[in-house]
Amino acid sequence: MTPEELREQLDAHCGREGEPLVARDPVNQPMIRHWCDAVGDRNPCYTDPDFASKSVHGGIVAPPTMLQAWTMPGLAPPESLMPRRSDLAGVLRLLDDAGYTSVVATNCRQEYVRYLVPGDLIRVTALVDRVSDEKQTALGPGRFVDELMIYRDAEGSEVARMRWRILKFKPPQAAAAASTTGTSSASQRPRPRPAKSLDNAFFWEGVEKGELRIQRCTACSRLRHPPGPMCPDCHSLEWDHVVSSGRGHVYSFVVAHHPPIPPFDYPNLVVLVELTEGTRLVSNLLDVAPADAEIGMPVEVAFTRVDDELVLPLFRPTAPGR
Ligand SMILES: [Zn+2]
Repeated sequence: MTPEELREQLDAHCGREGEPLVARDPVNQPMIRHWCDAVGDRNPCYTDPDFASKSVHGGIVAPPTMLQAWTMPGLAPPESLMPRRSDLAGVLRLLDDAGYTSVVATNCRQEYVRYLVPGDLIRVTALVDRVSDEKQTALGPGRFVDELMIYRDAEGSEVARMRWRILKFKPPQAAAAASTTGTSSASQRPRPRPAKSLDNAFFWEGVEKGELRIQRCTACSRLRHPPGPMCPDCHSLEWDHVVSSGRGHVYSFVVAHHPPIPPFDYPNLVVLVELTEGTRLVSNLLDVAPADAEIGMPVEVAFTRVDDELVLPLFRPTAPGR
């Protein structure tokens, strides 16, 4: 199939809204309460009828981020409850056949038109909104697929919409095999750059100086990581930082085997380190074979230059006697 034919066939699947999937239950207080318990949301507008009745809402409302919960079809829904959702399956088949056999979800964006209230019966329809042309990405050449979910109430009015995007890409081995040079670019690809922001700039400035910094609330002294603008305990926006001893232990770890994503070495030992100060951070463990990693291992930070521009706080086992 030529790229033009593929484009044409992909476009034929776009913009076609599937059949609605109707929520099994109307928006209801018990589900809201369980949700709030699970995520630790204590906003009384969600659970306290007296408080909610005096609020701007005039009564109980559902947390907007519960949106997807209402139309969950269940773990093993009968076929009759699963309407044709959209043309996504057809699009994925076309892309698989064209060599874009790997997939990763890239982002999801929800927009809320109004708060949902107990009694609302929600239905959702989906459509493939667009499939991008081929882009060069860090994972390989790929195409982004946008699916759009439209949530409506019983009257048919839109209450929210969700756009989620996946990347269908050609995995590196396949791309390398297809390349006439026959060389893999994986080893030359640099590590992903940290997403630096005003909130975490102090952390990365510290790394440059060989300091492992931990954000501290100046109102209540609580330490927190990853960095953020507000103290989760006292809600203060004021903060400074302390410099960590750099020592701690392996709180947990995973060993990633597949899919191999350049430029990382596989198996890739990813650790969650709990520092002696109490905060935890995700890193890699050096000088340890994945099979030898153990929860509780004492470790210390090793500021490691991974390429010309990037130093990362990696960890290694604590030297004996320290
Ligand atoms: Zn605080």
